[in-house]
Amino acid sequence: MTITLKDRLSHFTYREACKLLGPEGERFIRQGGKYDFDIGEQVTWGEDFFRLNLGEATVTLSLKPENPKSLDFACSQCSESCEHAGAAFSLILEEKLSLGLSAPPPEKQPVESLSDEEVIKLAIEERSERAKNEKMQLKSMNRHELWTDYTITSHFSGKSYRVALRGWKEGESYCSCPDFRKNTLGTCKHILYTIDEVKKRFNQKVVNYPAASCGASNSLKNFPPP
Ligand SMILES: [Zn+2]
Ligand SMILES: [Zn+2]
Repeated sequence: MTITLKDRLSHFTYREACKLLGPEGERFIRQGGKYDFDIGEQVTWGEDFFRLNLGEATVTLSLKPENPKSLDFACSQCSESCEHAGAAFSLILEEKLSLGLSAPPPEKQPVESLSDEEVIKLAIEERSERAKNEKMQLKSMNRHELWTDYTITSHFSGKSYRVALRGWKEGESYCSCPDFRKNTLGTCKHILYTIDEVKKRFNQKVVNYPAASCGASNSLKNFPPP
Protein backbone atom coordinates (compact mmCIF):
# COMPACT_ATOMS: atom_id res chain seq x y z
CA MET A 1 0.00 0.00 0.00
CA THR A 2 1.39 3.38 -0.93
CA ILE A 3 1.08 6.10 1.63
CA THR A 4 0.14 9.57 0.56
CA LEU A 5 1.52 12.78 1.95
CA LYS A 6 -1.83 13.42 3.66
CA ASP A 7 -1.72 10.00 5.36
CA ARG A 8 1.78 10.71 6.50
CA LEU A 9 0.95 14.16 7.86
CA SER A 10 -2.18 13.00 9.63
CA HIS A 11 0.06 10.88 11.88
CA PHE A 12 2.82 13.43 12.12
CA THR A 13 3.89 14.14 15.70
CA TYR A 14 5.57 16.94 17.55
CA ARG A 15 8.57 14.75 18.28
CA GLU A 16 9.05 13.96 14.63
CA ALA A 17 8.85 17.64 13.75
CA CYS A 18 11.53 18.47 16.32
CA LYS A 19 13.73 15.70 15.06
CA LEU A 20 13.40 16.81 11.46
CA LEU A 21 14.25 20.40 12.30
CA GLY A 22 17.30 19.48 14.35
CA PRO A 23 18.61 20.77 17.67
CA GLU A 24 16.75 24.06 17.42
CA GLY A 25 13.53 22.45 16.27
CA GLU A 26 11.54 23.29 19.35
CA ARG A 27 12.38 26.96 19.04
CA PHE A 28 11.63 27.06 15.31
CA ILE A 29 8.20 25.51 15.84
CA ARG A 30 7.34 27.91 18.64
CA GLN A 31 8.49 30.92 16.61
CA GLY A 32 6.75 29.58 13.54
CA GLY A 33 3.54 29.32 15.54
CA LYS A 34 3.48 33.10 15.81
CA TYR A 35 2.87 33.58 12.10
CA ASP A 36 -0.67 34.56 11.35
CA PHE A 37 -2.08 33.35 8.09
CA ASP A 38 -5.13 32.32 6.19
CA ILE A 39 -5.19 28.60 5.45
CA GLY A 40 -7.49 29.07 2.45
CA GLU A 41 -5.26 31.69 0.87
CA GLN A 42 -1.78 30.56 1.78
CA VAL A 43 -1.86 26.78 1.78
CA THR A 44 -1.69 24.77 -1.43
CA TRP A 45 -2.04 21.01 -1.66
CA GLY A 46 -0.66 19.13 -4.62
CA GLU A 47 -0.77 15.43 -5.41
CA ASP A 48 2.43 14.91 -3.46
CA PHE A 49 3.28 18.20 -1.83
CA PHE A 50 2.03 20.69 0.74
CA ARG A 51 2.98 24.31 0.30
CA LEU A 52 2.73 27.20 2.72
CA ASN A 53 3.28 30.66 1.34
CA LEU A 54 4.34 33.00 4.13
CA GLY A 55 4.97 35.95 1.86
CA GLU A 56 8.59 36.31 2.89
CA ALA A 57 9.26 32.62 2.18
CA THR A 58 7.56 29.52 0.82
CA VAL A 59 7.85 26.15 2.54
CA THR A 60 7.23 22.92 0.70
CA LEU A 61 6.75 19.53 2.35
CA SER A 62 6.91 16.31 0.36
CA LEU A 63 7.72 12.65 0.82
CA LYS A 64 11.18 11.48 -0.14
CA PRO A 65 10.85 9.39 -3.31
CA GLU A 66 13.47 6.90 -2.10
CA ASN A 67 11.80 6.47 1.26
CA PRO A 68 8.15 7.43 1.16
CA LYS A 69 7.82 7.25 4.92
CA SER A 70 10.19 10.10 5.53
CA LEU A 71 9.27 13.67 5.08
CA ASP A 72 11.25 16.31 3.28
CA PHE A 73 10.96 20.03 3.79
CA ALA A 74 12.39 22.93 1.84
CA CYS A 75 12.28 26.67 2.40
CA SER A 76 12.63 29.05 -0.54
CA GLN A 77 14.74 31.44 1.54
CA CYS A 78 16.84 29.31 3.84
CA SER A 79 19.18 26.44 3.20
CA GLU A 80 18.86 24.95 6.67
CA SER A 81 16.12 24.50 9.27
CA CYS A 82 14.33 27.78 9.88
CA GLU A 83 11.26 29.28 11.53
CA HIS A 84 9.45 29.20 8.17
CA ALA A 85 9.63 25.42 8.23
CA GLY A 86 8.71 25.67 11.90
CA ALA A 87 5.58 27.58 10.86
CA ALA A 88 4.57 24.82 8.45
CA PHE A 89 5.02 22.11 11.09
CA SER A 90 3.30 24.14 13.76
CA LEU A 91 0.33 24.61 11.44
CA ILE A 92 0.12 20.92 10.63
CA LEU A 93 0.36 19.86 14.26
CA GLU A 94 -2.22 22.39 15.40
CA GLU A 95 -4.70 22.31 12.56
CA LYS A 96 -5.06 18.69 11.53
CA LEU A 97 -8.83 18.99 11.66
CA SER A 98 -9.19 22.10 9.53
CA LEU A 99 -6.56 20.87 7.08
CA GLY A 100 -8.54 17.67 6.57
CA LEU A 101 -5.81 15.58 8.18
CA SER A 102 -7.75 13.89 10.94
CA ALA A 103 -7.42 10.15 10.79
CA PRO A 104 -10.41 8.47 12.43
CA PRO A 105 -9.53 5.10 13.94
CA PRO A 106 -10.57 2.30 11.58
CA GLU A 107 -12.95 0.69 14.07
CA LYS A 108 -15.29 3.68 13.88
CA GLN A 109 -18.28 3.51 11.58
CA PRO A 110 -17.87 5.04 8.14
CA VAL A 111 -19.25 8.58 8.14
CA GLU A 112 -21.63 7.89 5.22
CA SER A 113 -23.73 5.52 7.31
CA LEU A 114 -24.37 8.06 10.07
CA SER A 115 -27.20 10.55 10.48
CA ASP A 116 -26.44 14.28 10.52
CA GLU A 117 -26.88 14.30 14.26
CA GLU A 118 -24.39 11.49 14.74
CA VAL A 119 -21.88 13.18 12.46
CA ILE A 120 -22.10 16.34 14.56
CA LYS A 121 -21.77 14.35 17.78
CA LEU A 122 -18.71 12.60 16.43
CA ALA A 123 -17.12 15.85 15.27
CA ILE A 124 -17.59 17.38 18.71
CA GLU A 125 -16.21 14.26 20.40
CA GLU A 126 -13.16 14.45 18.18
CA ARG A 127 -12.53 18.01 19.32
CA SER A 128 -13.21 17.22 22.92
CA GLU A 129 -10.65 14.44 22.78
CA ARG A 130 -8.09 16.90 21.45
CA ALA A 131 -8.99 19.38 24.17
CA LYS A 132 -8.27 16.67 26.75
CA ASN A 133 -5.07 15.38 25.24
CA GLU A 134 -3.30 18.46 23.93
CA LYS A 135 -1.38 20.72 26.22
CA MET A 136 -2.70 24.28 26.16
CA GLN A 137 -2.28 27.37 28.25
CA LEU A 138 -5.21 29.58 29.10
CA LYS A 139 -4.85 33.24 29.95
CA SER A 140 -7.83 35.30 31.02
CA MET A 141 -8.31 38.94 30.03
CA ASN A 142 -10.01 39.48 33.39
CA ARG A 143 -9.28 36.94 36.11
CA HIS A 144 -12.31 37.88 38.20
CA GLU A 145 -14.77 37.45 35.40
CA LEU A 146 -15.95 34.09 34.09
CA TRP A 147 -17.61 35.37 30.92
CA THR A 148 -14.69 37.16 29.40
CA ASP A 149 -12.14 36.76 26.62
CA TYR A 150 -9.28 34.30 26.91
CA THR A 151 -6.07 33.77 25.03
CA ILE A 152 -5.29 30.14 24.51
CA THR A 153 -1.84 29.01 23.45
CA SER A 154 -0.92 25.56 22.32
CA HIS A 155 2.05 24.39 24.34
CA PHE A 156 3.80 22.65 21.45
CA SER A 157 2.94 24.63 18.38
CA GLY A 158 3.07 28.01 20.11
CA LYS A 159 -0.09 29.04 18.25
CA SER A 160 -2.38 31.45 20.07
CA TYR A 161 -6.09 32.03 19.54
CA ARG A 162 -8.70 34.16 21.21
CA VAL A 163 -11.74 32.61 22.85
CA ALA A 164 -14.74 34.77 23.81
CA LEU A 165 -16.55 32.71 26.42
CA ARG A 166 -20.23 33.66 26.44
CA GLY A 167 -22.04 30.46 27.34
CA TRP A 168 -21.65 26.72 27.84
CA LYS A 169 -23.55 25.59 24.79
CA GLU A 170 -22.40 25.25 21.22
CA GLY A 171 -22.85 28.44 19.26
CA GLU A 172 -22.65 30.69 22.30
CA SER A 173 -18.90 31.25 22.43
CA TYR A 174 -16.39 32.22 19.77
CA CYS A 175 -12.85 31.28 18.83
CA SER A 176 -10.52 32.90 16.33
CA CYS A 177 -9.07 29.59 15.12
CA PRO A 178 -9.51 28.34 11.53
CA ASP A 179 -11.37 25.23 12.65
CA PHE A 180 -14.06 27.25 14.42
CA ARG A 181 -14.54 29.44 11.36
CA LYS A 182 -14.96 26.44 9.14
CA ASN A 183 -16.61 23.62 11.05
CA THR A 184 -20.09 25.17 11.68
CA LEU A 185 -20.29 23.23 14.99
CA GLY A 186 -20.24 26.38 17.08
CA THR A 187 -17.34 25.01 19.07
CA CYS A 188 -13.74 23.84 18.76
CA LYS A 189 -11.07 22.23 20.90
CA HIS A 190 -10.07 25.64 22.29
CA ILE A 191 -13.58 26.49 23.47
CA LEU A 192 -14.01 23.02 24.94
CA TYR A 193 -10.68 23.32 26.72
CA THR A 194 -11.58 26.78 28.03
CA ILE A 195 -14.92 25.52 29.37
CA ASP A 196 -13.26 22.63 31.20
CA GLU A 197 -10.58 24.87 32.59
CA VAL A 198 -12.82 27.69 33.87
CA LYS A 199 -15.11 25.18 35.54
CA LYS A 200 -12.08 24.16 37.58
CA ARG A 201 -11.02 27.74 38.26
CA PHE A 202 -14.35 29.16 39.34
CA ASN A 203 -16.49 27.80 42.11
CA GLN A 204 -19.77 26.06 41.39
CA LYS A 205 -21.88 29.09 42.34
CA VAL A 206 -20.30 31.29 39.70
CA VAL A 207 -20.34 28.52 37.14
CA ASN A 208 -24.11 28.11 37.56
CA TYR A 209 -24.84 31.74 36.70
CA PRO A 210 -26.19 32.20 33.24
CA ALA A 211 -23.95 34.30 31.01
CA ALA A 212 -26.33 37.28 30.91
CA SER A 213 -26.37 37.88 34.67
CA CYS A 214 -22.62 38.09 34.75
CA GLY A 215 -22.62 41.19 32.59
CA ALA A 216 -21.12 39.60 29.53
CA SER A 217 -22.96 41.62 26.96
CA ASN A 218 -19.86 43.73 26.36
CA SER A 219 -17.63 42.64 23.52
CA LEU A 220 -19.74 40.07 21.69
CA LYS A 221 -20.34 42.31 18.73
CA ASN A 222 -16.68 43.23 18.61
CA PHE A 223 -15.60 39.67 18.15
CA PRO A 224 -13.85 38.58 16.06
CA PRO A 225 -11.90 41.82 15.87
CA PRO A 226 -12.34 43.54 12.48
ZN1 LIG B 1 13.15 29.75 5.84
ZN1 LIG C 1 -10.57 27.27 18.35
